[in-house]
Amino acid sequence: MSDIKAPKGTRDIFAPEIQKWQYLENAIHGYYKKFLYQEIRTPIFEHSELFSRGIGSETEVVQKEMYTFTDKSDRSLTLRPENTASVVRAAIENNLFETMAPLRFYYIGPMFRYDKPQKGRYRQFQQFGVEVFADDSPQVDAEVILSAVDFLKKLGIEEIQLDLNSVGCPQCRPAYLEVLRKAARASESRLCVDCRRKIEGNPLRIFDCKLPECAEATRQFPVLGDHLCAECREHFTAVRETLSWMNIPFQLNPRLVRGLDYYTKTAFEVISGQLGAQNALLGGGRYNNLIKELGGPDMAGIGFAAGMERIILHLQSLEIPRARILFVACQDPQWLAHAIQLAQVLRAEGYPVYLDYQGKNLKKQFKKADRIAAAFTLVLAEDEVKSGTVSIKNMASQEQIKISLKDLNAWLKTNY
Ligand SMILES: [Zn+2]
Ligand SMILES: [Zn+2]
Repeated sequence: MSDIKAPKGTRDIFAPEIQKWQYLENAIHGYYKKFLYQEIRTPIFEHSELFSRGIGSETEVVQKEMYTFTDKSDRSLTLRPENTASVVRAAIENNLFETMAPLRFYYIGPMFRYDKPQKGRYRQFQQFGVEVFADDSPQVDAEVILSAVDFLKKLGIEEIQLDLNSVGCPQCRPAYLEVLRKAARASESRLCVDCRRKIEGNPLRIFDCKLPECAEATRQFPVLGDHLCAECREHFTAVRETLSWMNIPFQLNPRLVRGLDYYTKTAFEVISGQLGAQNALLGGGRYNNLIKELGGPDMAGIGFAAGMERIILHLQSLEIPRARILFVACQDPQWLAHAIQLAQVLRAEGYPVYLDYQGKNLKKQFKKADRIAAAFTLVLAEDEVKSGTVSIKNMASQEQIKISLKDLNAWLKTNY
């Protein structure tokens, strides 16, 4: 056995679990087309500055969790810890704001964070997400949330809770941050070293701290919801109203601030009732300043990202039927050309076909057919080749019949 193992926090995915991943990926491609989202694929590494500017230099993600390295040309590069900043960068760089309509994207791909690995949380993890640009209407917020919740329900994930908050905007947030600073200074002794440092920088980030004593201290802190400006308040009211039209239940969570600096107005999370501590399935919100911040037009944005590992944990009972395999056996290597041509015809018809090239006798080939769980073995021997027929053995019932090759397709259509 090799002493080289996969790095901590990474994992291999293979059959049968890989079938669930393919199922989920196909479901995402299918579902988001209904809302006119187009897939976007961005590089998995970017200039580090994209994330420190986009996500915020005081966030946990940027301060502690990024995989940053210097390449041979002395550039600072970072494996993407999330994808919103990359999608915005791509839209700016490729001028998509001018050439694409509507500006609705979805993505599927790996993200990287140096975090403590545990069940459902990895250092290389898979996310899918959506981003909608150029629309600040509260109904878009509700539609994005609807698509997230409805998609999870379509997958059969029922026990979910939607948490909702508004994190304000540059109009109302600075005044609130002053109020928050005051409260945080007053209980500074109850906060960890990191959180004390956040008081003068961005005290909102104290709400992200995972330490129980800090979480306890924040319970008495004033919340942003009580300090929203009129515009943010109206927006938030309209989001909630639209969600009620859509029949999407939610809970207000005034301490939900999401771990990234770019959020404005709506922030939300979908939590699973089944997963214990690592229970957030997806999270997102509006980011009306990010595009401008990264050098693009002054344009609104909203999106979410979902943790696919955690969604897969909910798909344990999903049974994906395996395609039935046809095993083509030839009794003697001299019929190999016929066997190869038969396999080609069958694959062209859409059947999964396995052909054994090792020249073993028929008995060994039948054994192999059992090992790969073939449904039928199609045998070509001298008699079959000479008479233009094929013998078919049903591997479950052991029944064997011989039919004419020209009838094979019709036979498969009724018996496969
Ligand atoms: Zn505001
Ligand atoms: Zn803390």
